[in-house]
Amino acid sequence: MSKPSMNPEKKLVTLIPGDGVGPECVRAAQRIIEASGAAVAWEERHAGASVFRQGIASGVPQDTIESIRRTRVVLKGPLETPVGFGEKSANVTLRKLFETYGNIRPVRELPGVPTPYSGRGIDLVVVRENVEDLYAGIEHMQTPGVAQCLKLISSKGSEKVVRLAFELAVAEGRKRVHCATKSNIMKLTEGTLKRTFERVSRDYPGIEAQHIIIDNCAHQLVKKPEQFDVIVTTNMNGDIISDLTSALVGGLGFAPSANLGNEVAIFEAVHGSAPKYADKDVINPTAVVLSAVMMLRHLGEFEAAARIEHAILVTLEEGTARTGDVVGYDKGASTTAFTEAIIANLGRKSGRYQVREYRPIKLPEVDPAPDFVKARERHVAGVDIFVESSLAAEELGKSLERLAAETPLKLKMISNRGTKVYPATGAITDCVDHWRCRFIGRNATGDLEDSAIFDLLQRVAAHHRWMHIEKLQEFDHVRGFTMAQGED
Ligand code: NAP
Repeated sequence: MSKPSMNPEKKLVTLIPGDGVGPECVRAAQRIIEASGAAVAWEERHAGASVFRQGIASGVPQDTIESIRRTRVVLKGPLETPVGFGEKSANVTLRKLFETYGNIRPVRELPGVPTPYSGRGIDLVVVRENVEDLYAGIEHMQTPGVAQCLKLISSKGSEKVVRLAFELAVAEGRKRVHCATKSNIMKLTEGTLKRTFERVSRDYPGIEAQHIIIDNCAHQLVKKPEQFDVIVTTNMNGDIISDLTSALVGGLGFAPSANLGNEVAIFEAVHGSAPKYADKDVINPTAVVLSAVMMLRHLGEFEAAARIEHAILVTLEEGTARTGDVVGYDKGASTTAFTEAIIANLGRKSGRYQVREYRPIKLPEVDPAPDFVKARERHVAGVDIFVESSLAAEELGKSLERLAAETPLKLKMISNRGTKVYPATGAITDCVDHWRCRFIGRNATGDLEDSAIFDLLQRVAAHHRWMHIEKLQEFDHVRGFTMAQGED
């Protein structure tokens, strides 16, 4: 393990070499940064495969966590999630442990890297929400054959990432922010990001704000990518479209990223450990080097960052060294030769390709209160009881009606995989043994007591196997639950 620098002028960075091609890419970035004269010192720590093999289930040891807590800045290589060691990705663990809520993924057309889009001036940034959504990792087998993954989206998390996207646009002099969601289908979860975007955008009148449905966003990105400037989106959408955007400019070898939080920032390539290329001295280190450039800007080392970015542009433009992933360069330069060419070009500037003027990003200050949104009034309208049963819908419905007959609740409907199946609608549904049974209060205006819900649950449980229960709530007279397909 390398010793931290004693030079108080230098900014200390936790360096995690990572797995597979990680160490080769990270060493290349380290060499280039040192040659640039940036005032950075390293504290090397480990995470990922080697740590899983030591039996540390999170893949992130305590001394790595302590180093990051101290330095607050990380440059890392990709981490493998080895099958059979622990359950969780060490990457996701790192992002979540330090609340790096925004994942910034810029791509721009690069000289000497031919793509079908060359000449169109692609220069955009995907801002991906980084800790919520399906990546909260809350999954259950609800029946032996039906799995559930909770998609959690908070107003607070949405506000932080949306403000970050607008602040990034301000810092980089960008003109337009798109918000890409699937709010037409997931009105409450994806809709939270959309509604937050519409509200927060009013604080940034100088920046054009536009919502786009994520599937059309994917289509437009392939058809006319130059129309986009900044795209803010939910975690899963962002994961997918940022791999797509990297392919628009030459592939994962050219796609850097920053995981930003108000306390800690983690810089890494979008790509993974690409194990088939490990230790062969062939991998393209540009994505990690460009991530290091983002890190230098975060540290206020704007001059060194620009020097390195110019040197990369000159190296690619002149084509004296290009790695084998660049189309037409199957017998590309080695990682070492490419790195040395960049070092040799430090101090030179591309004539045609400019480096953007950057200013520090003002990280959003959002109220830290856990109850970020407070309701003045709330009302419990009913309950969904999820039941595992091999009965037919009609039989189950009749049974539940009988069980609820003498309670303050009545069965409103049963749905199977989201479609109403009882009372019968005539729909053709291929049912599984997982039923959502919706009960509502007989008195529509009265609030339901928990005791009434417990009593109903006990009656249902005496005859059927239940596995999950969800209150149907209204906050400030707005319904906090969706209807099933076919439910009136
Ligand atoms: P991957 O490592 O990103 O590799 C996929 C493909 O992308 C490679 O086979 C290669 O394509 C290309 N590629 C990746 N990096 C490149 C580079 N620097 N230069 C040129 N081409 C590059 O994805 P994966 O194979 O799905 O994942 C491998 C492991 O990495 C998994 O364990 C995964 O969990 C992990 N992972 C980690 C991170 C992270 O640490 N942030 C992110 C993603 C995945 P060709 O085959 O066409 O040459």
